[in-house]
Amino acid sequence: MSRFEINWEVIPLKLKEVFTISRGSKSEVPNVFLSITKNGITGYGEAGPNTRYDETADKVIQYLEALPEGFFDSISSADEIATELEVLKISPNVQSAKAAIEMAWMDWWGKSKEQPLWKLWGNDLPVGPVTSYTIGLDTPEKMQQKIRAADQYPVYKIKLGTDRDREIIEAIRDVTDKPLRVDANEGWTTLEQARKEIEFLSSQNVELIEQPMPAKEFDQMKELKKWSPLPLAADESFIGDENLAQISEAFHIINIKLMKIGSLVKARNVIKEAHQLGLEVMIGCMIESSLANAAGALLALDAEYADLDGHLLISNDTFSELQVNKDGKVILSNLPGLGVDRN
Ligand code: MG
Repeated sequence: MSRFEINWEVIPLKLKEVFTISRGSKSEVPNVFLSITKNGITGYGEAGPNTRYDETADKVIQYLEALPEGFFDSISSADEIATELEVLKISPNVQSAKAAIEMAWMDWWGKSKEQPLWKLWGNDLPVGPVTSYTIGLDTPEKMQQKIRAADQYPVYKIKLGTDRDREIIEAIRDVTDKPLRVDANEGWTTLEQARKEIEFLSSQNVELIEQPMPAKEFDQMKELKKWSPLPLAADESFIGDENLAQISEAFHIINIKLMKIGSLVKARNVIKEAHQLGLEVMIGCMIESSLANAAGALLALDAEYADLDGHLLISNDTFSELQVNKDGKVILSNLPGLGVDRN
């Protein structure tokens, strides 16, 4: 029986512009790219470790090195690899590494079947929701410039959570009246502050507010939801194992990111469960290439919102063929597997 050959490398993805949110700034991110090859077919996976969740490229590599010998060789279905990864006891547990492992196998599997994954997963069309395009924190003038430079996108995600949020929004409203999504990244620390900001934002053509308060302030966010005129989305408050019925007491939407939840198969099940509970779903991303965002786009086919712009924010995308059409919708290609090509 032929066996999988496994390789990985760290590629620093370079941001076109320094990316700032309420927690800090970055100009590049070291993502780990995994490739698995058998029978002349290579599947690719990507880990985008995020320090907010205590993950680093080193930890991803440690996890990959600790994979049992021949791990991929007996896998025959997506459900099986998801289950195997669930029961693996590797410490530390690294969700982005698990996401990369499952992604690589699924890409390989689709390619070996000569079918795009979106078809193998029963979707009629490869067209997802409109993606937002993120404008990182900066001076109001620079944020205006960024909006002008991103004129092709129909909706922007604005990073807030500062003591000058109103000034930023007013500056943005001087250059565009397009709908905005606001991400406070846990930056409003009291209920009073969150209410004040949301009250103002509710008159500014804002579609939703992401993570208004710190994840640890869950009870306060329950209060916020009772009052909020705008839908609230859980990002830092929803990693992957939380009780969704509880989450729905404080939020209207969950933001699922592969790098938090660690599995496409699990994410797909969570989408179903969330919908049954009346929660809407956004598929988000870290700073990632078109590879991991194609995996996100696959999930987004079943979601209400997409925030899959990581690959649009970098200057050295390592993969291609994931498209955003003129309406801002994310579109997967007809290529087999995840539908992306290594550049
Ligand atoms: Mg967020």
